[in-house]
Amino acid sequence: MAPKLPIYMDNAATSRCDPRVVEAMLPYFTEKYGNSSSRNHKFGWEGEEGVETAREQAAALIGANAKEIIWTSGATEGNNLAIKGAAHMYAKAPEGQPNRGHIITAVHEHKAVLDPCKRLQREGFEVTFLEPKADGIITAAMVKAAMRPDTILVSIMWANNEIGTINEVPEIGKLCHEREVIFHTDATQWVGKMPTDVERDNIDLLSWSGHKIYGPKGVGALYVRRRKPRVRLEAIFDGGGHERGMRSGTLNVTGIVGFGKACELCKAEMDRDGERLLKLRRKLETELAKRIEVTQVNGHADKRLPNIANISFGFVEGESLLMGIKDIACSSGSACTSASLEPSYVLKSLGVGDELAHSSLRLSLGRWTTEEEVDYAIEKITKAVHHLRQMSPLFDLYKEGVDISKIEWQTH
Ligand SMILES: *Cc1c(COP(=O)(O)O)cnc(C)c1O
Repeated sequence: MAPKLPIYMDNAATSRCDPRVVEAMLPYFTEKYGNSSSRNHKFGWEGEEGVETAREQAAALIGANAKEIIWTSGATEGNNLAIKGAAHMYAKAPEGQPNRGHIITAVHEHKAVLDPCKRLQREGFEVTFLEPKADGIITAAMVKAAMRPDTILVSIMWANNEIGTINEVPEIGKLCHEREVIFHTDATQWVGKMPTDVERDNIDLLSWSGHKIYGPKGVGALYVRRRKPRVRLEAIFDGGGHERGMRSGTLNVTGIVGFGKACELCKAEMDRDGERLLKLRRKLETELAKRIEVTQVNGHADKRLPNIANISFGFVEGESLLMGIKDIACSSGSACTSASLEPSYVLKSLGVGDELAHSSLRLSLGRWTTEEEVDYAIEKITKAVHHLRQMSPLFDLYKEGVDISKIEWQTH
């Protein structure tokens, strides 16, 4: 059966809000609209009850205590609060000197981690940006080799948003705990899809976001460990002292109720969803590789999320490829900067060349992706790539056996 077009394969960018989440949120717009900080009337108590139920649901998803959940506006805020908050709190500055301390992260983290780290660098902190090998994975050994006596914070994402690769987070956490270094993980793509236990996995700070787990946009949570060690953060917002003083501001009650419901649904359904999506992702990757030569799946073969496929197609131009598959909503290996299209810094960090990075697609599946849609994508992408290659003189040379890498390109 032909699927309804366009089809959505960009779930790593954002996901559809589950109708069960919307239903849970609705009463909080029009009936239970109290401010959850209002202590002296029923409206306030109802709001508070919604928020505290959600806090339990969020905590249950990651094996935390509800008291360890801080509400945020999303993973960008959670990452900023965790990284800047911990760096400022644990800075080791000798008397009269500016902020000091060493931070470890990786070059292919999300910008919401890289940019706060770069700001701290400008303030005087030293930051090591680890570089992955071709498989895209950050190992505990890499972190260990970068550790220094003045290391105060390690921030390594759990799973990468462009290539889906899974870093050695539990092992990195263990290492950090042994050295009494605070460990933060941006788990936005991981939580809700894969089993998580902040105790077993040695996490101190963990950020995630509603809209990546079939919840609403503009709401997220930061897990802040309360014991062994008790992690303290310097707040970014001042005013009112909400959320244990770490995040002031009237709570987004409706959003938080939706976030909680989304967490509850993920906890109940992630095993089944994950198994189904892994089969579909594998079908997508193997069928495309079978039908199209000079195709490469980026990132480690197995240590990847079930729902993200990142595939490069040689001898096609990225923009033209996207034009050729217009009714498939997905992301490309190019990032729009102010003036030009830049190849993805994530793919570059794995050693993928600029050309191949531009002609990459990130296809990210989700709760409502069907097998019919996957079959459609396979057909459509195959057709588009073959069509573009028919017009490619380079592909002709390649077919004739010319070693393209030996050609001397004219530079301009
Ligand atoms: C989407 C995403 C973010 C940003 O989350 P927001 O809630 O949109 O701010 C951060 N990190 C990763 C890995 C993401 O995928």
